[in-house]
Amino acid sequence: MAQPLLRRLHSTCPDARLTVLARPHVAPVFRYMPEVEQVLVAPFSQGKLQWKELRQLVCQHLQAEHFDRAYVLPNSFKSALLPWLAGIPVRVGYVGEMRYGLLNQRLPNPDKNQPRPPMAEFYAALAGTPAQGDYFNSERPRLILPEAEVQAARQHFLGNSDATPLIGFCPGAEYGPAKRYPVEQFAALARLFIRQYPHGKIICLGGPKDADIAQAIAQQSDLGAGHMLNTCGQTRLDQAMALMKSLQAVVTNDSGLMHVAAALDVPLVALYGSTDPQHTPPYTPQASIATLALDCSPCFARECPLGHFRCMRDLAPERVYALLEPLLSNHFQ
Ligand code: SF4
Repeated sequence: MAQPLLRRLHSTCPDARLTVLARPHVAPVFRYMPEVEQVLVAPFSQGKLQWKELRQLVCQHLQAEHFDRAYVLPNSFKSALLPWLAGIPVRVGYVGEMRYGLLNQRLPNPDKNQPRPPMAEFYAALAGTPAQGDYFNSERPRLILPEAEVQAARQHFLGNSDATPLIGFCPGAEYGPAKRYPVEQFAALARLFIRQYPHGKIICLGGPKDADIAQAIAQQSDLGAGHMLNTCGQTRLDQAMALMKSLQAVVTNDSGLMHVAAALDVPLVALYGSTDPQHTPPYTPQASIATLALDCSPCFARECPLGHFRCMRDLAPERVYALLEPLLSNHFQ
Protein backbone atom coordinates (compact mmCIF):
# COMPACT_ATOMS: atom_id res chain seq x y z
CA MET A 1 0.00 0.00 0.00
CA ALA A 2 3.06 2.25 0.18
CA GLN A 3 3.94 1.72 -3.45
CA PRO A 4 1.64 4.34 -5.05
CA LEU A 5 3.51 6.92 -2.92
CA LEU A 6 6.88 5.58 -4.12
CA ARG A 7 5.74 5.61 -7.73
CA ARG A 8 4.44 9.15 -7.43
CA LEU A 9 7.73 10.36 -5.91
CA HIS A 10 9.67 8.58 -8.62
CA SER A 11 7.60 10.03 -11.45
CA THR A 12 7.80 13.56 -9.98
CA CYS A 13 11.56 13.35 -9.58
CA PRO A 14 12.97 10.53 -11.77
CA ASP A 15 16.59 11.20 -10.78
CA ALA A 16 15.90 10.85 -7.07
CA ARG A 17 17.31 7.75 -5.37
CA LEU A 18 14.64 6.10 -3.23
CA THR A 19 15.71 4.13 -0.17
CA VAL A 20 13.13 2.27 1.92
CA LEU A 21 13.70 1.53 5.60
CA ALA A 22 11.50 -1.42 6.57
CA ARG A 23 11.17 -3.99 9.30
CA PRO A 24 12.59 -7.46 8.46
CA HIS A 25 9.27 -9.21 7.76
CA VAL A 26 8.28 -6.78 4.98
CA ALA A 27 11.68 -5.73 3.65
CA PRO A 28 11.75 -8.40 0.87
CA VAL A 29 8.59 -6.97 -0.71
CA PHE A 30 10.27 -3.62 -1.41
CA ARG A 31 13.10 -5.34 -3.32
CA TYR A 32 10.59 -6.16 -6.06
CA MET A 33 9.45 -2.57 -6.55
CA PRO A 34 11.19 -1.04 -9.56
CA GLU A 35 11.11 2.46 -8.06
CA VAL A 36 13.20 1.43 -5.05
CA GLU A 37 16.99 1.61 -5.31
CA GLN A 38 17.97 0.43 -1.84
CA VAL A 39 16.27 -1.36 1.08
CA LEU A 40 17.59 -0.93 4.62
CA VAL A 41 16.32 -3.27 7.33
CA ALA A 42 15.26 -1.78 10.66
CA PRO A 43 15.81 -4.41 13.36
CA PHE A 44 12.92 -3.24 15.54
CA SER A 45 9.96 -4.86 17.25
CA GLN A 46 6.61 -3.09 17.17
CA GLY A 47 5.74 -1.05 20.25
CA LYS A 48 9.22 -0.98 21.86
CA LEU A 49 11.58 2.00 21.83
CA GLN A 50 14.86 -0.03 21.59
CA TRP A 51 17.04 3.05 22.06
CA LYS A 52 20.36 1.24 21.50
CA GLU A 53 19.30 -0.22 18.11
CA LEU A 54 17.82 3.13 17.12
CA ARG A 55 21.08 5.00 17.78
CA GLN A 56 23.07 2.32 15.97
CA LEU A 57 20.89 2.53 12.87
CA VAL A 58 21.07 6.33 12.82
CA CYS A 59 24.84 6.52 13.34
CA GLN A 60 25.89 3.62 11.12
CA HIS A 61 23.49 3.98 8.19
CA LEU A 62 21.13 6.94 8.04
CA GLN A 63 23.59 9.78 8.74
CA ALA A 64 26.12 8.36 6.26
CA GLU A 65 23.59 8.46 3.41
CA HIS A 66 22.93 12.23 3.69
CA PHE A 67 19.27 11.89 2.70
CA ASP A 68 17.52 15.09 1.59
CA ARG A 69 13.98 14.06 2.58
CA ALA A 70 12.22 11.44 4.66
CA TYR A 71 8.60 10.33 4.24
CA VAL A 72 7.35 8.72 7.44
CA LEU A 73 4.48 6.31 6.82
CA PRO A 74 3.76 4.74 10.24
CA ASN A 75 2.04 7.00 12.77
CA SER A 76 4.29 6.12 15.71
CA PHE A 77 6.50 8.56 17.58
CA LYS A 78 9.51 6.24 17.13
CA SER A 79 9.26 6.19 13.34
CA ALA A 80 9.44 10.00 13.23
CA LEU A 81 12.29 10.06 15.73
CA LEU A 82 14.63 8.25 13.31
CA PRO A 83 14.86 10.90 10.53
CA TRP A 84 15.00 13.68 13.15
CA LEU A 85 17.96 12.01 14.88
CA ALA A 86 19.62 11.41 11.51
CA GLY A 87 19.42 15.15 10.74
CA ILE A 88 17.41 14.70 7.52
CA PRO A 89 16.38 18.28 6.67
CA VAL A 90 12.84 17.67 5.29
CA ARG A 91 10.64 15.23 7.24
CA VAL A 92 7.13 14.59 5.90
CA GLY A 93 4.30 12.68 7.57
CA TYR A 94 0.93 12.81 9.29
CA VAL A 95 0.84 14.41 12.73
CA GLY A 96 0.22 10.90 14.12
CA GLU A 97 1.27 10.56 17.75
CA MET A 98 1.86 14.27 18.48
CA ARG A 99 4.96 14.48 16.28
CA TYR A 100 4.94 18.27 15.92
CA GLY A 101 8.64 18.82 16.64
CA LEU A 102 9.88 15.78 14.77
CA LEU A 103 8.18 16.39 11.40
CA ASN A 104 8.47 19.73 9.64
CA GLN A 105 5.99 19.03 6.79
CA ARG A 106 2.87 17.70 8.47
CA LEU A 107 -0.52 16.60 7.20
CA PRO A 108 -3.45 16.53 9.65
CA ASN A 109 -4.65 13.17 10.95
CA PRO A 110 -7.87 11.92 9.33
CA ASP A 111 -11.15 12.83 11.06
CA LYS A 112 -11.91 10.05 13.58
CA ASN A 113 -15.64 10.56 13.06
CA GLN A 114 -15.40 9.66 9.37
CA PRO A 115 -14.82 6.21 7.83
CA ARG A 116 -11.09 5.42 7.58
CA PRO A 117 -9.64 6.57 4.22
CA PRO A 118 -8.27 4.04 1.70
CA MET A 119 -4.71 3.30 2.84
CA ALA A 120 -2.89 3.60 -0.51
CA GLU A 121 -4.41 7.03 -1.10
CA PHE A 122 -3.68 8.04 2.50
CA TYR A 123 0.03 7.31 2.03
CA ALA A 124 0.25 8.64 -1.54
CA ALA A 125 -1.09 12.01 -0.38
CA LEU A 126 2.27 12.54 1.39
CA ALA A 127 3.83 13.13 -2.04
CA GLY A 128 1.94 16.42 -2.25
CA THR A 129 1.09 15.91 -5.92
CA PRO A 130 -2.22 14.75 -7.41
CA ALA A 131 -2.85 11.13 -8.48
CA GLN A 132 -2.22 10.40 -12.17
CA GLY A 133 -4.84 7.65 -12.43
CA ASP A 134 -6.91 5.31 -10.30
CA TYR A 135 -5.53 2.99 -7.65
CA PHE A 136 -7.09 -0.13 -9.13
CA ASN A 137 -5.53 0.30 -12.56
CA SER A 138 -2.70 2.61 -13.64
CA GLU A 139 -1.72 3.71 -10.09
CA ARG A 140 -2.06 0.32 -8.47
CA PRO A 141 0.79 -1.46 -6.66
CA ARG A 142 2.88 -3.83 -8.79
CA LEU A 143 5.66 -6.22 -7.81
CA ILE A 144 8.04 -7.44 -10.52
CA LEU A 145 9.47 -10.92 -9.89
CA PRO A 146 12.20 -12.41 -12.12
CA GLU A 147 10.81 -15.42 -14.04
CA ALA A 148 13.81 -17.50 -12.88
CA GLU A 149 12.71 -17.07 -9.23
CA VAL A 150 9.16 -18.11 -10.11
CA GLN A 151 10.39 -21.24 -11.89
CA ALA A 152 12.82 -22.10 -9.08
CA ALA A 153 10.09 -21.86 -6.43
CA ARG A 154 7.72 -23.93 -8.54
CA GLN A 155 10.33 -26.61 -9.07
CA HIS A 156 11.34 -26.64 -5.41
CA PHE A 157 7.83 -26.94 -3.97
CA LEU A 158 5.89 -28.67 -6.74
CA GLY A 159 8.55 -30.62 -8.63
CA ASN A 160 7.13 -32.04 -11.85
CA SER A 161 3.52 -32.05 -10.59
CA ASP A 162 1.03 -31.57 -13.43
CA ALA A 163 -1.83 -30.67 -11.07
CA THR A 164 -4.12 -28.05 -12.54
CA PRO A 165 -5.56 -25.64 -11.63
CA LEU A 166 -3.30 -24.57 -8.78
CA ILE A 167 -4.91 -22.30 -6.25
CA GLY A 168 -3.67 -20.77 -3.01
CA PHE A 169 -5.19 -20.39 0.43
CA CYS A 170 -3.77 -17.67 2.70
CA PRO A 171 -5.48 -18.62 5.97
CA GLY A 172 -3.49 -16.39 8.34
CA ALA A 173 -3.84 -12.78 9.43
CA GLU A 174 -1.29 -11.43 11.89
CA TYR A 175 -3.74 -8.86 13.29
CA GLY A 176 -5.98 -11.39 15.03
CA PRO A 177 -8.65 -14.10 14.73
CA ALA A 178 -11.41 -11.66 13.75
CA LYS A 179 -9.73 -11.38 10.33
CA ARG A 180 -9.43 -15.15 9.81
CA TYR A 181 -11.95 -17.23 7.91
CA PRO A 182 -12.68 -20.29 10.11
CA VAL A 183 -10.76 -23.52 9.50
CA GLU A 184 -13.86 -25.64 8.89
CA GLN A 185 -15.07 -23.21 6.22
CA PHE A 186 -11.70 -23.20 4.46
CA ALA A 187 -11.85 -27.02 4.59
CA ALA A 188 -15.35 -27.09 3.06
CA LEU A 189 -14.19 -24.66 0.36
CA ALA A 190 -11.28 -27.00 -0.42
CA ARG A 191 -13.70 -29.90 -0.90
CA LEU A 192 -15.93 -27.85 -3.21
CA PHE A 193 -12.91 -26.92 -5.32
CA ILE A 194 -11.58 -30.48 -5.63
CA ARG A 195 -15.04 -31.84 -6.41
CA GLN A 196 -15.16 -29.49 -9.40
CA TYR A 197 -11.47 -29.84 -10.31
CA PRO A 198 -10.29 -33.36 -9.35
CA HIS A 199 -6.83 -32.67 -10.86
CA GLY A 200 -6.45 -29.42 -8.95
CA LYS A 201 -4.23 -28.65 -6.00
CA ILE A 202 -4.36 -26.15 -3.13
CA ILE A 203 -1.18 -24.54 -1.82
CA CYS A 204 -1.44 -23.05 1.67
CA LEU A 205 0.80 -20.00 2.00
CA GLY A 206 1.81 -18.17 5.15
CA GLY A 207 4.33 -17.80 7.92
CA PRO A 208 5.28 -20.14 10.78
CA LYS A 209 2.32 -18.92 12.89
CA ASP A 210 -0.09 -20.07 10.15
CA ALA A 211 1.28 -23.62 9.87
CA ASP A 212 -1.10 -25.12 12.45
CA ILE A 213 -4.11 -23.43 10.86
CA ALA A 214 -3.16 -24.81 7.44
CA GLN A 215 -2.56 -28.23 8.95
CA ALA A 216 -6.04 -28.18 10.52
CA ILE A 217 -7.57 -27.19 7.17
CA ALA A 218 -5.81 -30.12 5.50
CA GLN A 219 -7.02 -32.54 8.19
CA GLN A 220 -10.61 -31.32 8.19
CA SER A 221 -10.86 -31.30 4.42
CA ASP A 222 -9.72 -34.92 4.36
CA LEU A 223 -8.18 -34.42 0.93
CA GLY A 224 -4.67 -35.84 1.31
CA ALA A 225 -1.27 -34.57 0.23
CA GLY A 226 -1.99 -34.95 -3.49
CA HIS A 227 -4.59 -32.21 -3.28
CA MET A 228 -3.18 -29.93 -0.61
CA LEU A 229 0.33 -28.70 0.16
CA ASN A 230 1.07 -26.79 3.35
CA THR A 231 4.01 -24.44 2.79
CA CYS A 232 3.26 -22.17 5.77
CA GLY A 233 6.50 -21.56 7.64
CA GLN A 234 8.47 -23.51 5.02
CA THR A 235 9.24 -20.58 2.73
CA ARG A 236 10.98 -17.24 2.92
CA LEU A 237 8.68 -14.39 1.95
CA ASP A 238 10.33 -14.02 -1.46
CA GLN A 239 9.79 -17.76 -2.12
CA ALA A 240 6.13 -17.53 -1.07
CA MET A 241 5.71 -14.63 -3.48
CA ALA A 242 7.38 -16.56 -6.30
CA LEU A 243 5.23 -19.61 -5.62
CA MET A 244 2.12 -17.47 -5.54
CA LYS A 245 2.92 -16.16 -9.02
CA SER A 246 2.43 -19.73 -10.37
CA LEU A 247 -1.13 -19.94 -9.05
CA GLN A 248 -4.30 -19.43 -11.05
CA ALA A 249 -6.14 -17.83 -8.12
CA VAL A 250 -5.87 -17.22 -4.38
CA VAL A 251 -8.45 -17.18 -1.58
CA THR A 252 -7.17 -14.97 1.18
CA ASN A 253 -8.03 -13.18 4.38
CA ASP A 254 -7.43 -9.44 4.52
CA SER A 255 -3.68 -9.76 5.11
CA GLY A 256 -0.29 -8.79 3.75
CA LEU A 257 -0.35 -11.76 1.38
CA MET A 258 -3.64 -10.50 -0.07
CA HIS A 259 -1.90 -7.29 -1.10
CA VAL A 260 1.04 -9.29 -2.47
CA ALA A 261 -1.32 -11.39 -4.62
CA ALA A 262 -2.97 -8.24 -5.95
CA ALA A 263 0.38 -6.64 -6.77
CA LEU A 264 1.52 -9.83 -8.55
CA ASP A 265 -1.60 -9.82 -10.77
CA VAL A 266 -2.87 -13.10 -9.32
CA PRO A 267 -6.71 -13.19 -9.38
CA LEU A 268 -8.09 -13.42 -5.87
CA VAL A 269 -11.09 -13.74 -3.59
CA ALA A 270 -10.63 -11.55 -0.50
CA LEU A 271 -12.47 -12.49 2.70
CA TYR A 272 -13.41 -9.62 5.01
CA GLY A 273 -14.62 -10.04 8.60
CA SER A 274 -13.91 -7.31 11.12
CA THR A 275 -12.18 -5.02 8.61
CA ASP A 276 -13.32 -2.78 5.79
CA PRO A 277 -12.81 -3.48 2.07
CA GLN A 278 -13.06 0.27 1.45
CA HIS A 279 -10.15 0.98 3.81
CA THR A 280 -7.71 -1.79 2.80
CA PRO A 281 -8.94 -3.11 -0.55
CA PRO A 282 -6.90 -5.40 -2.78
CA TYR A 283 -5.72 -2.91 -5.41
CA THR A 284 -6.41 -4.92 -8.55
CA PRO A 285 -9.26 -5.23 -11.04
CA GLN A 286 -8.99 -9.01 -10.65
CA ALA A 287 -10.38 -9.28 -7.09
CA SER A 288 -13.75 -10.43 -5.82
CA ILE A 289 -14.71 -9.31 -2.32
CA ALA A 290 -16.49 -11.74 0.00
CA THR A 291 -18.14 -9.85 2.84
CA LEU A 292 -21.50 -9.93 4.57
CA ALA A 293 -21.30 -6.21 5.49
CA LEU A 294 -23.16 -6.78 8.78
CA ASP A 295 -24.37 -3.83 10.83
CA CYS A 296 -21.56 -4.46 13.34
CA SER A 297 -18.93 -4.47 10.58
CA PRO A 298 -16.29 -3.13 10.32
CA CYS A 299 -15.45 -3.19 14.04
CA PHE A 300 -11.67 -3.39 13.42
CA ALA A 301 -11.37 -5.61 16.51
CA ARG A 302 -8.76 -8.34 16.80
CA GLU A 303 -11.34 -10.69 18.36
CA CYS A 304 -15.09 -10.51 17.94
CA PRO A 305 -16.38 -8.22 20.72
CA LEU A 306 -19.88 -9.75 20.36
CA GLY A 307 -18.63 -13.31 20.66
CA HIS A 308 -20.63 -14.71 17.71
CA PHE A 309 -18.18 -13.82 14.88
CA ARG A 310 -21.04 -13.93 12.40
CA CYS A 311 -19.19 -11.78 9.85
CA MET A 312 -17.06 -14.83 9.01
CA ARG A 313 -19.05 -17.74 10.43
CA ASP A 314 -22.10 -16.89 8.30
CA LEU A 315 -20.01 -16.44 5.15
CA ALA A 316 -20.84 -19.77 3.52
CA PRO A 317 -18.09 -21.65 1.62
CA GLU A 318 -20.57 -22.04 -1.28
CA ARG A 319 -20.78 -18.26 -1.51
CA VAL A 320 -16.98 -17.94 -1.54
CA TYR A 321 -16.69 -20.71 -4.12
CA ALA A 322 -19.20 -18.90 -6.35
CA LEU A 323 -16.72 -16.00 -6.44
CA LEU A 324 -13.73 -18.26 -7.02
CA GLU A 325 -15.19 -20.31 -9.86
CA PRO A 326 -15.37 -17.48 -12.47
CA LEU A 327 -11.71 -16.63 -11.80
CA LEU A 328 -10.78 -20.23 -12.67
CA SER A 329 -13.10 -20.62 -15.63
CA ASN A 330 -11.72 -17.33 -17.07
CA HIS A 331 -8.27 -18.88 -16.87
CA PHE A 332 -9.30 -22.03 -18.74
CA GLN A 333 -11.18 -20.27 -21.53
S1 SF4 B 1 -18.43 -7.46 15.89
FE1 SF4 B 1 -19.26 -8.01 13.90
S2 SF4 B 1 -17.68 -7.38 12.45
FE2 SF4 B 1 -16.71 -7.42 14.48
S3 SF4 B 1 -15.82 -9.47 14.58
FE3 SF4 B 1 -17.86 -9.60 15.54
S4 SF4 B 1 -19.23 -10.24 13.88
FE4 SF4 B 1 -17.33 -9.51 12.96
